Amino acid sequence: MNAATIAHGALHGDAGHEVRLPPARMLIGGEWVESANGRSIDVEDPATTRVFTSVPDGSVEDVDRAVKAARRAFEARSWARMRPLDRGKIIENIARKIEENAQELALLESYDNGKTVHHALAVDVPAAVDIFRYMAGWTSKIGGQVNPISGDGQQYHSYSVREPVGVVGQIVPWNYPLAMAAWKIAPALAAGCTIVLKPSELTPLTALRLAELALEAGLPEGVLNVVTGYGQAAGQALVEHPGIDKIAFTGSTRVGKQIVRTAAEDLKRVTLELGGKSPSLIFADADLEKATLGAALAIFFNSGQVCLAASRLFVERKVYDEVVEGIAKAAQSFKLGHGRDPETMLGPLVSRQQQSRVLDYIEQGRNCGAEVVTGGGTGGKDGYFVEPTIFANPSPEASIVREEIFGPVLVATPFDDIDEVVKAANDTRYGLAANIWTRDLSRAHLTARRLEAGVVWINTHGMNDPSAPFGGVKESGWGREVGEEGLLHYTETKTVTALLDE
Ligand code: NAD
Repeated sequence: MNAATIAHGALHGDAGHEVRLPPARMLIGGEWVESANGRSIDVEDPATTRVFTSVPDGSVEDVDRAVKAARRAFEARSWARMRPLDRGKIIENIARKIEENAQELALLESYDNGKTVHHALAVDVPAAVDIFRYMAGWTSKIGGQVNPISGDGQQYHSYSVREPVGVVGQIVPWNYPLAMAAWKIAPALAAGCTIVLKPSELTPLTALRLAELALEAGLPEGVLNVVTGYGQAAGQALVEHPGIDKIAFTGSTRVGKQIVRTAAEDLKRVTLELGGKSPSLIFADADLEKATLGAALAIFFNSGQVCLAASRLFVERKVYDEVVEGIAKAAQSFKLGHGRDPETMLGPLVSRQQQSRVLDYIEQGRNCGAEVVTGGGTGGKDGYFVEPTIFANPSPEASIVREEIFGPVLVATPFDDIDEVVKAANDTRYGLAANIWTRDLSRAHLTARRLEAGVVWINTHGMNDPSAPFGGVKESGWGREVGEEGLLHYTETKTVTALLDE
């Protein structure tokens, strides 16, 4: 630990920033506690590789305590049976608390994850505010239906209601730590569930701060518990725990499959938001200036560490050179640096391991004969940086084309007609997102229908909203997040049928 950077619970960072650190503890049953094993996990600034704080290394025992606390809170029914409008008011209060602490949360996210403060202020924090605000309104609208049963000719009154699924275990990744935690917590709270959340071991800080703000906003103790720790220990223990009714997971496809296997043991409900290898499709009639910048941001935003990153580019042959050159120019103009520098466009990757993984893919790309149009190095920085990189004309079988890299690496291929590009775009085990750039409306919508993806954007990319269901097909996941559909994944349907005596 670099003690010189820490004083009075605050991080005295670069550019004269002082960031209040959340408790270096876990939240269980309303108490801030150490881990049972007394161990901790260092938290590092990926821009400087300096360790600046630590969090508890949660164990099986801690997960058990947290699940029991969440179960007690669920059975006390003080949350699920609270007047729906009052429950909504507390969720709205959480939105307001996040808004009031936007600057602090953005700085914390930057030190923890590496992303720029302006990115966190423009994307991560508003996404968290919006989902709590949106879900607050749902508490008083989760109704049911009357079933018009034919039955055996006697009179029945039959209705179906939505009940909270129970105690949910939520596991989130490191790329959008605050926003991903918010996308999990807000619908679960709106549905009346209680929660044990496990943030990524790499980026635990904003989830802890969010939990602190939720308590200040009036959330009853035990409704939200946060256990920090490694996936193999705390994460696995959460998935195995018999006291958990549902697991909501966002992360890699590899771990998602492992979770499904474990959860099959007691048939826990599972929703999965997994990896992607999304395509950008640019037709020659598109507004090429917008399409070029759009496709560049679609891969390089957040240094490519985005599940919906459009990492495969397909461009109609007659404008291919022009577009690839334009994206390369944009990539070269994106300044790499630490996230507190207002000039920085791309921060570092989250960890040494992630940097090595991405550099290893770049090496594989070179070895398989793909042409490096730009990038390919670390940019000569001390932190975990990787330059925005473009490969042209790779073999469709190359690992850089087939596997999710989760870094700033784009592969570009020309196409001649729609059938060819749709086939190539769908030639992946993933199916999270896609974007299409064209001025031809019919072509845009017809192509959207043919793409195997949970989300398709036309002449834009990455426009997510709490009202619009998000999630993938194929190996990109099960279920949808946010929107009404995302909310309903935190409920079970109960049908009640009564025979009426005539
Ligand atoms: P990861 O799968 O390694 O880890 C995600 C979370 O799971 C972490 O909290 C980790 O501690 C935990 N975990 C790891 N092993 C576990 C296990 N055996 N049991 C239970 N929990 C375990 O993913 P990552 O590297 O943190 O994140 C990157 C991945 O997340 C990428 O594949 C990306 O596409 C995906 N992602 C998807 C979405 C989406 O909405 N579809 C959003 C963001 C990230």
